[in-house]
Amino acid sequence: MAHSLGEGEAVDRFWEKPLSELNDSEWERLCDGCGRCCLKKLQDDDSGETHYTRVVCRYFESETSRCSCYDQRTQLVPDCVKVKQVDASAFAWMPATCAYRLRFEDKPLYSWHPLIAGSRQAMESAEIPIVGRTLSEEFVHRDGYQEHIIRWVEC
Ligand code: SF4
Ligand code: SF4
Repeated sequence: MAHSLGEGEAVDRFWEKPLSELNDSEWERLCDGCGRCCLKKLQDDDSGETHYTRVVCRYFESETSRCSCYDQRTQLVPDCVKVKQVDASAFAWMPATCAYRLRFEDKPLYSWHPLIAGSRQAMESAEIPIVGRTLSEEFVHRDGYQEHIIRWVEC
């Protein structure tokens, strides 16, 4: 049950620690569940720029805004990102709002992050989750991804 903080009780702002110091539970809780990393991306051959599309991985579950195959994800989807193992170059194309990318870059989380706001409401008001705005890759040919490039994901 929720209770107000008494004297001497401190909020555990674990997300302010360096990523390397987070334990497994803290690491998992840092994810805001936005789903943006599950969108298909295209890279411009000339500029190297990353473009996000509204085409989403077939295993992204809209009802929960979560992966439906989390434990097997890297076997089922070879290009699925295992965030714990990505390096600086890979973080560069993660969404700019991604909590892991922000902390990797030593930036604070946004005030809408559920760890700070206390619920997903502020995050939803800020239109961060991808739910309701995507097309499953099951219905789009890879050659057609270009037609679905979006501007609502910063990267
Ligand atoms: S396998 Fe899961 S975590 Fe990976 S891109 Fe697909 S939905 Fe996202
Ligand atoms: S973009 Fe980052 S914060 Fe959002 S779901 Fe993916 S890993 Fe989690």
